[in-house]
Amino acid sequence: MLKKPSATAKPLWKKAPFKSSYDAVIIGGGLHGLATAYFLARDHGMTNIAVIEKRYIGFGGAGRNTAIVRANQRTQENVPLYKEALELWPVLTRELDFNLMFYNCGNLNLAHSDAALKAMRTNVATARFHGVQSRVVDPKECKELVPALDISERPRYPIFGGMYHPPGGIVRHDAVVWGLAKGATAKGIHIHQGTEVTGIGVSNGKVVSVETDKGKIATNRVLNAAGGYSAALSWNLLGMKLPISVLTIQAMVTQPLKPLLHHVVSSGAYHCYANQTLKGEIATGSHMDPWPNYTTQTTARYIKHQAEALIEMMPCLSGIKFMRTWGGLADMTPDMAPIMDGNHPHEGYYLDCGWGYFGFKSSTVTGKYMAQYMATGQCPEILAPFALRRFQEHRLMGETAALVNYTPDN
Ligand SMILES: Cc1cc2nc3c(=O)[nH]c(=O)nc-3n(C[C@H](O)[C@H](O)[C@H](O)COP(=O)(O)OP(=O)(O)OC[C@H]3O[C@@H](n4cnc5c(N)ncnc54)[C@H](O)[C@@H]3O)c2cc1C
Repeated sequence: MLKKPSATAKPLWKKAPFKSSYDAVIIGGGLHGLATAYFLARDHGMTNIAVIEKRYIGFGGAGRNTAIVRANQRTQENVPLYKEALELWPVLTRELDFNLMFYNCGNLNLAHSDAALKAMRTNVATARFHGVQSRVVDPKECKELVPALDISERPRYPIFGGMYHPPGGIVRHDAVVWGLAKGATAKGIHIHQGTEVTGIGVSNGKVVSVETDKGKIATNRVLNAAGGYSAALSWNLLGMKLPISVLTIQAMVTQPLKPLLHHVVSSGAYHCYANQTLKGEIATGSHMDPWPNYTTQTTARYIKHQAEALIEMMPCLSGIKFMRTWGGLADMTPDMAPIMDGNHPHEGYYLDCGWGYFGFKSSTVTGKYMAQYMATGQCPEILAPFALRRFQEHRLMGETAALVNYTPDN
């Protein structure tokens, strides 16, 4: 017999009183905001912190992403960060006492040209240099890993090989949001949902307060972790321009199917990536809209594109229905690497934004190091390459190559 739900079941996090003063205010109850709050409390004993979220936690990219995690990024600066992020999922699952559902199924990136294979060899070399497992595989091994793939000459972009990265996989994104909220509030952090930050007060070059639609908060540390809204926020509230374009990424899931896809599979040429969720749906995401916009709508163009791409790669999916589609905002920088910085004219104003496609997989480790930065005022070495001034100094990173190099034109 089914047990009745317990009348004493407790909510995962508590509603907190709105205070007029906090040691730090975090704008955005997404992955990065919640993770930073959690690590401020865990590692630095800072618990007088408010996370301010204009809608509900997980409203932004946090609740809209396709949940892919991996560490085989393109550049020396990025790989160590993502490597540590991968290692944190099981640790946090235990620590938060909340199942984040890390499914370590591995990722296979497909190459559709010799040039793409060559670019993958560079990626593999970088990953291995940092102790991250990754290797180039031939079409036969691609087929062994993902039997549904068509490795014949038939598809528009035949498969030349791939890059297989066993430590990656998928993690349940909502669980990460809820787990971090649970962990942060248990340590005394306040989360204020339905509250919008409308101003940042600065005096003599130092942050002194934050304005919200629920009242003013005195504070000398503010983190902009507003995801797709971070650049608008910086410009509107401080007149500080960030090199970020906001683009919509669309995603969708099919009807549930019996298990057939045991790895994350992606193709730059088709602009398509897919994995099978534990429910059996094929979750798939595509390239971003080709023009900046703030909508989260989906378009027939992308639904059609996605269906065609999936069937080209895995013909057995022909006739399967999409059940649900959605869109989310991606805050894209020109080099596809994030901005993490607290060293600019407004003392006490910290940036953690520009994550584009990659902000889920990095969120927990970024929270750890942004918390260190905010608590000590010293930029951790691992974050130093991500300073805003790299754009002024024309020292862009090569992370864009991770995507572009795999298209058949390169
Ligand atoms: C369709 C799609 C698929 C993706 N797939 C992947 C993937 O597979 N792997 C991966 O690593 N990444 C993926 N991403 C990217 C990832 O989701 C984002 O990079 C990540 O969510 C960024 O986290 P964040 O905490 O910075 O921002 P968000 O999660 O967007 O949170 C920002 C929050 O700030 C709030 N906010 C904004 N303005 C204000 C204000 N004025 N006052 C108060 N609150 C405010 C918003 O409401 C929002 O909740 C994908 C993104 C999309 C859209």
